Amino acid sequence: MSILIIGSMAFDAIETPYGKTGKIVGGSASFISLAAAKQTKDIGLVAVVGEDFDMDFLNGLKNDGIDTSGVQIKKGEKSFFWSGKYHLDMNSRDTLVTELNVLGDFDPIIPEHLAQPDYVMLGNLAPAVQISTLNRLKKKPKLTVLDTMNFWMDIALDDLKEVITMVDVLTINDEEARQLSGEYSLVKAAAKIREMGPQTLIIKKGEHGALLFGQEDEIFFCPALPLEEVFDPTGAGDSFAGGFLGYMASKNATDFETMKQAIVYGSATASFCVEKFGTERIAQLSEEELHERARKFISLSAVSL
Ligand code: AMP
Repeated sequence: MSILIIGSMAFDAIETPYGKTGKIVGGSASFISLAAAKQTKDIGLVAVVGEDFDMDFLNGLKNDGIDTSGVQIKKGEKSFFWSGKYHLDMNSRDTLVTELNVLGDFDPIIPEHLAQPDYVMLGNLAPAVQISTLNRLKKKPKLTVLDTMNFWMDIALDDLKEVITMVDVLTINDEEARQLSGEYSLVKAAAKIREMGPQTLIIKKGEHGALLFGQEDEIFFCPALPLEEVFDPTGAGDSFAGGFLGYMASKNATDFETMKQAIVYGSATASFCVEKFGTERIAQLSEEELHERARKFISLSAVSL
């Protein structure tokens, strides 16, 4: 089934207790595309980069079968730049720099042949751009998933609240769910956020797993794989989202039971992402490794009583 992905493509500079990088490729759309492509084909990408972007990375996406004809390359302009520093626990981070550059006036032009997707992933990006993307689609998708972050809650809350009414699934981390809802309890936060629009909510809790909230008090929990070392958590949320939607599209389904399986695949994908800096590990990941790790997730909490 066809997927349309929109999000940021970036240069990141990351500092973790394990070291520091110079400028490396990042961005929500970069991680999501690489992750989704492990499970399904027929993926279209809409994004914007500057002339300085790493064209080898873009060609790598094409080699993975991703249609990059919706990626605008702006002559003489600079790519989005983000820099972050992780705390010792690796669950929280400080954003040091956000330079929007080409993202500042991004007009998402969707090539005609990509404008009727079955599944849509609105990766972390200005909510106004996410809204334009949905308004430009030629038919209603089967499933639309939205990801966002506190940065947009701080500077574009009204737009964010609007796009939230337009999607089926929202993925968000625990701190952001608390900020958006004003509730500390995640169960109360989920109820409030679901009243804002999305039928389904996924709250990501980093090394403490992910919660899936559906209709009529349906709740599902998937743990995170206990890892000896989390090298760099950047992109874990995006890899999770890409793995989740890639799975849904591969099954051509939108129901809660399939979402439970998709959460396992999202979590498995994210568990690889954190093993190396940036996109490196997700880019190398094989389908066999992913399936094997998904099975590990099952055995992690399966028990007979
Ligand atoms: P994650 O760790 O999954 O939350 O996503 C990290 C990625 O988000 C990094 O590669 C950044 O380039 C990207 N990012 C950070 N801030 C923003 C923003 N304000 N808008 C879009 N993408 C961002």
